[in-house]
Amino acid sequence: LERSIHLAGVNDERRALSELNAAAADAFGATGASIGLADPERGVLRYVTPDGSWNEWPDDAFIAGRAFTSGRRILARDAATEDPAHAERYRASGAHAVIAAPIATEARRIGVLSVYADRMSIFIEDDLWLVDLLADQSAVLLEARTLAEHASALRAREEAARLKEEFLSAAAHDLRTPLTVVLGQAELLERRHQRAPDAPADARGLARIAREARRLSDLVTELLDAQRLEQGAMMDLAPADLLDVVEEVRERYAEGEVSVHVDEPAIALVASIDRTRIEQVLDNLVENALKYTPDGAPPEIRVTTADGEARLEVVDHGIGIPEPDRQRIFERFFRASNAQSITDTGLGLGLYICHRVVEQHGGRIWFESTPGGGTTFTIALPLLAVPEGETGDEPRAAAWDAGRPQEVAADA
Ligand code: ADP
Repeated sequence: LERSIHLAGVNDERRALSELNAAAADAFGATGASIGLADPERGVLRYVTPDGSWNEWPDDAFIAGRAFTSGRRILARDAATEDPAHAERYRASGAHAVIAAPIATEARRIGVLSVYADRMSIFIEDDLWLVDLLADQSAVLLEARTLAEHASALRAREEAARLKEEFLSAAAHDLRTPLTVVLGQAELLERRHQRAPDAPADARGLARIAREARRLSDLVTELLDAQRLEQGAMMDLAPADLLDVVEEVRERYAEGEVSVHVDEPAIALVASIDRTRIEQVLDNLVENALKYTPDGAPPEIRVTTADGEARLEVVDHGIGIPEPDRQRIFERFFRASNAQSITDTGLGLGLYICHRVVEQHGGRIWFESTPGGGTTFTIALPLLAVPEGETGDEPRAAAWDAGRPQEVAADA
């Protein structure tokens, strides 16, 4: 009993059954024991074989099957004689004598336990209570396992339902604001056009529609991206110079909006990355840095190296992240308590996306923050080794054989 008590928590069903079988055989000093699990819908009993695979038999086959269907314990002194149809199998597995007892709770029949020995003498009539006890104990353990499985399936379903709800309310809220603007503005233009078809086009109104529609499109893209990464999107990896990547990101912002500082790198900054994805990560971090810095002080991207990794830091002087919110900052849909006062749009998906992408590159992302004093997000990405003959003074991706992009499974 002591041996089997931990089995309720063993995840692998076959391992749990094998251990129960071994414990039951030991308790009798028998040749072996075998638990058959009932599958009532298909009318079979499933047994784990010594090599760890499943074996199925009709639920009335063998002496075990008879015990299962009759719901009674059976002691067969000479199994081959009592069940001649399977005589050969009993002999092959050294089962001269067999005791079988149904495993059941009050509510359902779970299966059957049979213990077998190559001689009758080990089964002493007075000891037969032991097989009942083992069958009862097996029932408790197997039922506990089933309940635990149901509970975890239920928790997973509840979690999925909760996420769906969060997703819907976050999405509905965020999509509604720009949608209201687009709709209102478009209806206004429509009415004006009906009143005065020849009036010149309202350029500002049209620009507003375009701007809000772009925002809508960005939000939808972010939602779909998070969904794809969750399901394990593939990364399209190829060697790239991280300084080029950083430079490209900087150029996307107006002059002076983002400054870049590079510590003279001792080694070339070439990493195997999905360039579009890493740019998306940097863009997200820079956009957050701008968004959460109300006085407009420009953020900086710093590039350093340490321990064979490139470190890309996005440093801002903004509102910071309050201590109690730090643990959850990379979670889906999470927004810190001080974010709302800055902007009420934001799905809380950007950092989740960053985290997933960096993880799938074998890298890490973390941050340091002082409330009111700014935040630094750091991405660490493993660098490729310098090919022979290169000094590392010319950190250009061309020095590496770009080859074909490698694909890496997302959850590898
Ligand atoms: P959001 O769309 O809300 O910006 P993110 O996933 O990008 O979503 O960020 C999650 C939350 O992390 C934000 O709502 C904000 O509270 C906090 N945060 C992210 N970046 C910064 C930053 N640079 N400074 C302060 N808070 C930040």
